[in-house]
Amino acid sequence: MELQVSGETALQQVRVGLGYDVHRLVAGRRLVLGGVEIPHDRGLDGHSDADVLLHALCDALLGAAGLGDLGDHFPPGDRRWKDADSVDLLRLVMEKVGQAGFSLVNCDLTLIAEAPRIAPHRQAMRERIAAATGLSVAEVGVKATTNERLGAVGREEGMAAMAVVLLAGRRP
Ligand code: MG
Repeated sequence: MELQVSGETALQQVRVGLGYDVHRLVAGRRLVLGGVEIPHDRGLDGHSDADVLLHALCDALLGAAGLGDLGDHFPPGDRRWKDADSVDLLRLVMEKVGQAGFSLVNCDLTLIAEAPRIAPHRQAMRERIAAATGLSVAEVGVKATTNERLGAVGREEGMAAMAVVLLAGRRP
């Protein structure tokens, strides 16, 4: 069976990317998810603001563009990124993706955490990510699920996140 493609699609290459990240939950840290600070009894530990959702998104973007991973571009321990706002990291990653000749079509993110409830903050996260990436809010998916109390995430020792992205670029 032959795949029908429009003239415009034939001139483009599309790339898919996958990102995954996990951070520990500790006392005395802010909880920042999807660029939004969320009230909680603990926060995620890390060198930057430890925004696990945005780190997964950045890794998906870099992977799709063939640009390595977040650690290559923002080494942990580098003082420039100490307590960095991960929205700024996302903006820098988007610049690198653009320089490599790609534009972002959509992204879809999943947070895996037992608590707190994400639904009240979902729209704010989508808007923040849309503003940083140039997508419309409709092109930014943010979902959350629990780990059914299984494993380290289930014991609330940390949170995990996954992201997928689709990039479009001109054929070389
Ligand atoms: Mg991380």
